Amino acid sequence: MPHLKYYQTENQSLPEWAKLNTPDRTIEYYFDRLKSRYKFRQKLLFHGRGNGGNCNSWRVRVSHDCSIGVLAHEVGHAIQFRKRGYYDTKGTRWHCNEHRKITARVLKTIETNITEWNFTLAKKVERGMQVAITKEIKEKEKTTIKATPDYKLQKLRESIKVWESKRKRAETALKKLRRREKLWVKKVQSEGLKSPSSLLKSL
Ligand SMILES: [Zn+2]
Repeated sequence: MPHLKYYQTENQSLPEWAKLNTPDRTIEYYFDRLKSRYKFRQKLLFHGRGNGGNCNSWRVRVSHDCSIGVLAHEVGHAIQFRKRGYYDTKGTRWHCNEHRKITARVLKTIETNITEWNFTLAKKVERGMQVAITKEIKEKEKTTIKATPDYKLQKLRESIKVWESKRKRAETALKKLRRREKLWVKKVQSEGLKSPSSLLKSL
């Protein structure tokens, strides 16, 4: 089991902070930062539990709340893929010195930036929460306003206004039509009245 040995050695060499379970939102943020730095193409998916991961040509998949060590390991494969441009499905050539070095570099990048990244992420989360709270307050205010008699009366008056303008338009249209009706009655009378059905029969 060369892979198992590889994992064990890797795990032993990891610093303690990289072994801790980390929330998905944090892993996702670190992944995005690493992606823009190392320019790999895979997207990130979460699946299952158990601190594991997997990488192929289009995605990196890690378990929920995985450790930073697992993230670095899989990102290491994504960088290998970018460099080599193919993926060895058996994985025999993917747990090698190259991968060990890349993973160490990825870990170093995380370690160097972790304070700044956590700060930015916290700000982002806070802003997101603020936006959600403001939205909720606005929705509540809207519902309260809609329930007031003032609002209902205003809406009713708007509706009356719309229908009054429709009535006005209908009255004008009817007036025009009646005027034309009178003209045509006169015309028909002057030529002798014929019913429309008898006209059609003569065609
Ligand atoms: Zn691996």
